Amino acid sequence: MSDCIFCKIVSGEFSSATIYEDEEFKVILDRFPANEGHALILVKDHVANIFEIDPDKAGRLFALAAKIAREMKERLGFDHMNVMQNNGTVAGQTVFHFHLHLIPRYENDGINI
Ligand code: 5GP
Ligand code: ZN
Repeated sequence: MSDCIFCKIVSGEFSSATIYEDEEFKVILDRFPANEGHALILVKDHVANIFEIDPDKAGRLFALAAKIAREMKERLGFDHMNVMQNNGTVAGQTVFHFHLHLIPRYENDGINI
């Protein structure tokens, strides 16, 4: 998709703070983090949302989410996390390229998700 921000991040045309990458997924830090350490797992091939993603790939993505979440927990020292995924404007999606949010939560961080 030529006008998709996350496709440009996947291809390297736009820079990002990348914390993990394999053939299928790229994990980056959110540019406008809801909290310290807010990460996004992007699928590399453009699909817009949960209605389009291959279910097996969604399974692999969630397995990766569990691994990355543990590594983030060790590194950043938090004990709480929101895992979030928005589909469609009404649901709050703003970038129409499938991604999963990993949002660390800290005692008394006061954020509302
Ligand atoms: P959505 O609202 O679609 O679920 O989430 C999109 C996320 O992408 C938001 O949390 C937003 O801060 C993040 N985002 C938007 N543009 C960029 C960008 O250029 N780089 C990075 N790393 N994150 C972005
Ligand atoms: Zn895309």
